[in-house]
Formats: sequence, C-alpha cells, structure tokens
Amino acid sequence: MVSPKGRATDRERRLPNLAGIWTAGTLKFGCLAVVAESNMYKTEGIVLKEEDLGEADRIFSIFTKDFGKVRILGKGTRKIKAKLRAGLQPFHYIYLEFVSGKTFYIATEAMNIYTFSGLRNNLEKLNAVFYISDLLDKLVKEEKDQRIWYLISKILKKTEEPEFFGQRLGLLLRYFEWNLMDILGYHPQLYFCPNCQKKLFESKKLFFSAREGGILCQNCKNLDKKAKEIDQNLIKLLRLILERKKEILERLKLTEEIEKLKEISKYFLEFILEEELYVV
Ligand SMILES: [Zn+2]
Repeated sequence: MVSPKGRATDRERRLPNLAGIWTAGTLKFGCLAVVAESNMYKTEGIVLKEEDLGEADRIFSIFTKDFGKVRILGKGTRKIKAKLRAGLQPFHYIYLEFVSGKTFYIATEAMNIYTFSGLRNNLEKLNAVFYISDLLDKLVKEEKDQRIWYLISKILKKTEEPEFFGQRLGLLLRYFEWNLMDILGYHPQLYFCPNCQKKLFESKKLFFSAREGGILCQNCKNLDKKAKEIDQNLIKLLRLILERKKEILERLKLTEEIEKLKEISKYFLEFILEEELYVV
C-alpha cells in the first residue's frame, strides 16, 4: 500500500490554532512572519484560488510561508475600488496581514511583492499555473512546510522563464507533481519490486502500481490489475526528478518519455485524490 509517511493525521492537519501559538511562544518565525500581539498575523504567500462569497466578498486560498495553506476572507474584494483587491489576485506573491474572525481568517492588508507578469499573456503558461494551483489546493491540506513553499516559489518562477514551454514546461510540471507528492509522503519505490524485493532492472517488463506504491516486477504484476507498464527510461527519468536535481530542468534532453510520464502522473494522482484529474 502507499504509505503516506510523515503525513499529518486528520486532527493535526486542521487549521493551526494560531492564537495558541502566540501564547505558547515556542515557534520562531522569520523577519516578515508575525506580530505576536493580539491576533494579527503577518506573512508572505501565493494566492492559489478565489471564490465569490455573497455580493461583495471573496474567499481566497493562499499558500503562506509561515502557516501553510489558509483560507482567508477578503471583505469587499468583489468591488472594483476595494483596497485589498490589487494584492489578492491569483498567482500573485504577496505580503499579507490577517486576523482571526468568527468563521474565517480575515485579510487586513495584501500587497504585491511579485506578480509573475511573465505568465499573464501566455495561455500555455497560464494553463500550467492553473494546474499547479489546482493540484496544491487539492493535495495540500493545511501543512506548514517550508519545502512546499520553496517548491512552489521555484516552480512558478521557472514557469515564467521563456525557455519553459512545450515539452520543457511539461518536464517542469512533472518535477512539481512528483516532488510535491514526495514531500507529502507518497514516495514510490523505484529500485526494488515492493512485493518480492527483486532489483527492478532484472525483470524484462515492469509495472507501476499506485496501490503498491512502486514498480512491480513481471512475476508480481498480478497483484494489481490496474498497474501500468512502464519502461526503464521512464523509471530513470522519475529517479532523476525525485533526486530533486534542479539542473535537469534546463539540461535534460527532451524525449517522448516526458509525455509518457504524464500518464503515470495522472494515474498516481487520481489514485491519491480518489477523483478524476485534468492533468496539463
Ligand atoms: Zn516482484
């Protein structure tokens, strides 16, 4: 079975009791992180999604550097002249202040740090960031994890660069998906068959099994009827991606393997999410 190692329990995953954090005084934050007085919080974040709420308001899903993913109410943000509107836009990297409200956290300040303007007029890149944002929204609960923060920041910055288009943009998205899954505890076994422990490349045919969390050898493939055949080059590509070697993003020779990996990504992500997913 896929074991979500290190994944927070449901109870731990709930929104942190931020008020409790101040009084406990056990956590240290960076320079922009927080003001310990009252219930006001300061951090940096990337706006992932927005949903309308009533006639004037919006709820924003924001991945923050210090608190993980939070849902924040932007009062009046559906109105054109709203003070908060400029900062609270999808994929903006912002400085954010918020307070605890009865039902939601409430934004009190949102200022742009970086707007990823290189993404805005390019449909292909825009599609890619919508997908990144959708995946984050679906896979990440409230985990506060600096590794996720750095992964998102790095991937969005790279998406903006002109050399990332077509297959190379696809490689970037695969890098993002698999490393995000890895951080969240879904690390596939890529060296030995998870059932018989045989070294993978000793078997002629190999099969990726989401349920078994790795690659089954030919003798064990019947363990999972849904396992998908995968060739050695694809396994090698996956290993490189999961070693988190950033240089592969620019230097790796582009081959049809990248397109094939997208199918495996979709299969594994849909198994984890238990729903269909449109993969870019
Ligand atoms: Zn086996």
